[in-house]
Amino acid sequence: MTPLTPLEDALGLILADASCLADIEHCALPAALGRVLAEDVSAGVPVPYDDNSAMDGYALRAADSGKSLHVAQRIAAGRAGEPLAPGTAARIFTGAPVPPGADAVAMQENCELDGDSVRLTQPVEPGENIRRAGQDLASGSVVFTAGRRLQAEDLGVLASVGCHDVPVRRRLVVSVLSTGDELVEPGPDAELAPGQIFNSNRYTLIGLLSGLGCEVRDGGMVPDDPDATAERLSVAAAQADCVITTGGVSVGEEDHVKAQVERLGALSLWKLQVKPGKPLAYGRIGETAFFGLPGNPAAVFVTFSMIVRPWLQRAQGAEVRNPLPLPATARFQRPRAGKRLEFLRARASVAEGELVVEVHENQSSGVLSAVSWANALVVVPPGITVAAGDRVEVLLLDQLNR
Ligand code: AMP
Ligand code: MG
Repeated sequence: MTPLTPLEDALGLILADASCLADIEHCALPAALGRVLAEDVSAGVPVPYDDNSAMDGYALRAADSGKSLHVAQRIAAGRAGEPLAPGTAARIFTGAPVPPGADAVAMQENCELDGDSVRLTQPVEPGENIRRAGQDLASGSVVFTAGRRLQAEDLGVLASVGCHDVPVRRRLVVSVLSTGDELVEPGPDAELAPGQIFNSNRYTLIGLLSGLGCEVRDGGMVPDDPDATAERLSVAAAQADCVITTGGVSVGEEDHVKAQVERLGALSLWKLQVKPGKPLAYGRIGETAFFGLPGNPAAVFVTFSMIVRPWLQRAQGAEVRNPLPLPATARFQRPRAGKRLEFLRARASVAEGELVVEVHENQSSGVLSAVSWANALVVVPPGITVAAGDRVEVLLLDQLNR
């Protein structure tokens, strides 16, 4: 019997085998969400560009706090003021540059106007209410390093330094094949005959891959037949950076994926000590990476998240970002210890200031609705039982596949 590979060893092997496959291209900033930065980006200008006011109020010399000051100028956002003459103040608005000579801004709520003079009801300290040039980003400083997957706020940060076009990695092309004679594609006229099921894995994978910025090639459904499997695998491999199959990778007579990948290329991993997700294969078909995921839909989600995602990130030239393992109090029990590392579909919440977690009542690897119900996975190591109140490790799903 093939020994089961622990997740950590499998990850080590897979990541050692992964290198960045994607060339560099340029992408306009509005289209760069989710793309992987290919080079470090430095600030071409300081942010803010000049010392500016954090408040609507009056710019002055802090030393003049106690005096009645002539309001000699008005500086709105987008305008530059004149040097501040001694004994004067400048009416100033949020975001407007502080005039040379002024070293503080008094907020208007703390000022009294008398004609065209102003007097402070409260003194100001030097530097008060001034946002210093470069306090956000200094000119020339590295804003983001290569490998960052750009988030919405990152696009804003890049724009703030004047960037309009970014060097990114090309999208990886990933081919998805769904094996199984029982599969039917949902459609307007689709009906199930006895023994058939709708193909759900295809859609889960298209979503997960798109979310990671991949270009998905749909290789369709593959019958449980050795020759058809080999043919479709080689066609898929010829036009993709990576091929992912679901189903047919176990040991039954109707499982042909493993044998055909070994015929066309080589497997370097088969069978994980993970639940759900034991029947998982990794290897190559020619130069193309191959992942054979289990058929069971919840196992597809877990193995993709824990194994395929890190590989894809590395191959995309992205930082491999693992979710933060969070300690939570179990609101469930697992009185029997398992032999594999388990990922339970779970819901984390906060109760009385503490992270608590409950698990879905149906942990079958076939139950995909439990994954949709979940917002987290509880990680239970082999040989461990869990009693209510125990401390367990939780991974939040929205940290996982990004
Ligand atoms: P297999 O590994 O091919 O024996 O598949 C294991 C289980 O997953 C079986 O119950 C299959 O019917 C189911 N399964 C396989 N592929 C899919 C799919 N694309 N969508 C939904 N369920 C699937
Ligand atoms: Mg099958």
